[in-house]
Amino acid sequence: MASTTCEFSSRCAVFAGRSVRADAAMRYREHYCMGDCSACARWALAIAIGIDEVPDELLPHQHDRADAYLIQAV
Ligand code: SF4
Repeated sequence: MASTTCEFSSRCAVFAGRSVRADAAMRYREHYCMGDCSACARWALAIAIGIDEVPDELLPHQHDRADAYLIQAV
C-alpha cells in the first residue's frame, strides 16, 4: 500500500517538529503523518476547525484534549 503524507503537514507544528522533541516528532510522522492520519487528534481537530486553529501543543494521541478544544471552539 502506498503511503501518503497528511494534507496538513506543511502547516502542522508537530510535523515540523516545532512543538515536540525531534525523536518524538519522528515517531509521530511515521505513525500518523505518513501512516494513519485519520487516527491523529490534530488531524481530526483540523478537519473540524482548520489547522491554523489547532494548538501547537496538542499531540496526535490526545483525543480527549482535542474534543475539549472542539467544544470550546463551537
Ligand atoms: S501531526 Fe496529525 S495533523 Fe499534523 S501532519 Fe501529522 S497527521 Fe497531520
